[in-house]
Amino acid sequence: MNQTASYGDPARFVTRLHVAEDCLDLPYTQEIIERARLPVTVVGERDVPAIDGEYPHNLSAGKRHLLLCRNRGAFFKPCPATREYRCCDYQVLNIGMNCPMDCVYCILQAYLNNPWLSFFVNVEDLFAELDAALAAEPARFFRIGTGEFTDSLALDSLTRLSPRLVEYMAGRDNAVLELKSKSVNTDNLEGLDHRGRTIVAWSLNSPPIMAREEIRTATLEERLQAAAQCAGWGYTLAFHFDPIILHPGWEEGYRYTINRLFATVPATSIAWISLGALRYLPPLKQIAATRFPGSRFFYQEFIDGLDGKRRYFRTQRVAMYRFILNELQRHAHSRTCLYFCMENDTIWQDVFGFVPKDRGGLPAMLDRAACWPA
Ligand code: SF4
Repeated sequence: MNQTASYGDPARFVTRLHVAEDCLDLPYTQEIIERARLPVTVVGERDVPAIDGEYPHNLSAGKRHLLLCRNRGAFFKPCPATREYRCCDYQVLNIGMNCPMDCVYCILQAYLNNPWLSFFVNVEDLFAELDAALAAEPARFFRIGTGEFTDSLALDSLTRLSPRLVEYMAGRDNAVLELKSKSVNTDNLEGLDHRGRTIVAWSLNSPPIMAREEIRTATLEERLQAAAQCAGWGYTLAFHFDPIILHPGWEEGYRYTINRLFATVPATSIAWISLGALRYLPPLKQIAATRFPGSRFFYQEFIDGLDGKRRYFRTQRVAMYRFILNELQRHAHSRTCLYFCMENDTIWQDVFGFVPKDRGGLPAMLDRAACWPA
């Protein structure tokens, strides 16, 4: 059951930096160039990194290329939720696009159309935007995450963005930041005065799924050891069982991961644990079939959800959720918020026996959970 092969830091998959001409002189750009010690290509304002082949076939090669550029859009936006499924009112802080790891089910494959990784170096604009947003609604509590269009920590050994974010968040009373990862690039989090305003989170799965379908990610034991270390540094933790995938031995697999989680990490450090069964935009199946012909899990039976994504049948989802929830509830602290990412009230009622509005709504449930550990 134990997945032992360690890839190490996924940032080492990157072999070339591309720097947008208008960012070349920024001190942060120069800092990253110096640290990375990789060949650098300067690209003009209207140019893009030259990667051979067509998207998505060139994604595997593209993930070796990191573009340092300016974010010309908004850094800070609400998570793209849908009306039909209960959403958690999360705010996305967009630090870059794409990721050096390579999960077969990664939704970014269908969402993006560039194969390279991007990291936004105009962080002064990012902090100015955060300042304005948090100051505009001082009575509101913000849960913010950087792991929507990339992995929060996968490139942190190159960028060292996390200490800047953690120290910024330490000075805000109406927000928490969730850094969500499948890597164990947590060295930069040590010794920071985080004031409980940063939550370090990992996605977890059944060991065969982690080993087969999550390429260049940290092993289960690596993730849990890193989480335990972060708890030792006083950070609050979170975990996400997402996507839950039906596979031979799934019950044994998820039970094993949950047992290892609570054997390694103090239950009192965990603010929330989410559950989300596999869901995907239809084009993702074809992309994954082309890039990962050995993967079989997309060839199961699915229904089209109201948000245009395919999901397992309701009875199947309920069966998986009930099993995993039961295992979690055997160990979890009563104040840890266990919740669904993007499920409807019928499923909530069937599995949890209540719907979020009975407890003030999912955002309020998570806001309460964000503040209790430590
Ligand atoms: S770690 Fe996350 S962002 Fe990176 S490939 Fe996997 S699912 Fe996508």
